[in-house]
Amino acid sequence: MTSKPAKCPVCGKPAQAEFRPFCSKRCADVDLGRWFSGDYRIPGAPAPIENDEKAERNDER
Ligand SMILES: [Zn+2]
Repeated sequence: MTSKPAKCPVCGKPAQAEFRPFCSKRCADVDLGRWFSGDYRIPGAPAPIENDEKAERNDER
């Protein structure tokens, strides 16, 4: 009855007052994570961290 409910910028669902402007804690975390990653354009795929061992080996002389 008040103003239109804002949409969650992450998933597009109606935002909840408790988590405004998001619909849930999860979406809030997702958005926060994007900002922390320093690149807001990343669609959300986490970079695989499986080259750790190889990188170490490549470093040996
Ligand atoms: Zn959401």
